[in-house]
Amino acid sequence: MNSVWELANPHLRDLAVYEPGKPIEETARELGSDAGSIIKLASNENPLGASPAALAAMRAALDQAHLYPDGGGYYLREALAAKLGVERANIILGSGSNEIIEFLGHAFLLAGDDVVTSEHAFIAYKLVAAGFGARTIEVPSPDLRHHLDAMSAAITPRTRLVFIANPNNPTGTLLEQTQIDSFMRALPERITVVFDEAYFEYVDGPPDVLKYVHAGRHVIVLRTFSKMHGLANLRIGYGIAPPELIQVLQKTRQPFNVSGIAQAAALAALGDKSHQEKTKRITDQGRTFLQHGFSEMDLPFVPSAGNFVLVRVGDSAAVFRALLARKIIVRALKGYHLPEWVRISVGTMEQNRRCLSALREVIDRAAT
Ligand SMILES: *Cc1c(COP(=O)(O)O)cnc(C)c1O
Repeated sequence: MNSVWELANPHLRDLAVYEPGKPIEETARELGSDAGSIIKLASNENPLGASPAALAAMRAALDQAHLYPDGGGYYLREALAAKLGVERANIILGSGSNEIIEFLGHAFLLAGDDVVTSEHAFIAYKLVAAGFGARTIEVPSPDLRHHLDAMSAAITPRTRLVFIANPNNPTGTLLEQTQIDSFMRALPERITVVFDEAYFEYVDGPPDVLKYVHAGRHVIVLRTFSKMHGLANLRIGYGIAPPELIQVLQKTRQPFNVSGIAQAAALAALGDKSHQEKTKRITDQGRTFLQHGFSEMDLPFVPSAGNFVLVRVGDSAAVFRALLARKIIVRALKGYHLPEWVRISVGTMEQNRRCLSALREVIDRAAT
């Protein structure tokens, strides 16, 4: 009998699978400790948790658990539109912003097409592209920054999508307005540009790319409730684009892709300014603290605009394991071709302190 791999679409055979970390409970069991004592700084989540208002809204929404959700996402899209100064028709909801990356694949990619992005960019772009049999052109980034001129130059006749994560994950680097504007001036109109702004809320003075949506360019801006808003488990994100592009993407979407509980939580989180401000404050303080600590240890790091820092530790797999033994989970970045680096999310000050002192022990030990 044929292997089912021979029957399945050929491009799936070589497709790398995104490897999430083990459940915290399993890690705790292996270390012989309880899950509460483990510090997870691996996925850029909000260490304060969800906003209390979002938690209350979720509890209230449980009464409707037996009913299908509002598939049109009416109230949330309305609230987002009002906040952003666009129309509801400019917004699409996804089961995480990652699902919208997949909508873009369905809408624009056929086997043999090209996608352009930067080396060390968020890995979801290339996984989705590969899933549609498209090739990803990764523009070199020796200094870990996005090079928009080189990305322009890398565009081929078969290029359909350009992905720009700003700030980028895992590097934390931010592109400035002037760089984006000159890229957009040179860009052929047939190309659709995706600005992934998952960390938008953490950035001081972020560049304005919504102006390209207003101008009717083929641009979509992705944002999420997973990071600043502390709702990663709920799977909810959104895209902002000209109405016609949203209509195209709506055709690729399953009717009930976002749960009512997630919609209720997101709506409440959006209105909870004080939780957002508190999160921003502890993140700014924590990032400064971590970066200062890395400097003291003479560890090179990339100054970050997000709620995480990329730091060069040498053998990152060994450092990952040594930190894990000290009950701290960080992200090693072999999958990103950054084998000497780990990415550490900013936690609470208590978590940041424990992380730095564990890292000091680990680095000292490696040096002696
Ligand atoms: C975390 C992250 C996302 C968010 O994904 P969700 O599916 O919304 O949880 C998107 N893009 C980047 C660059 C990220 O780091």
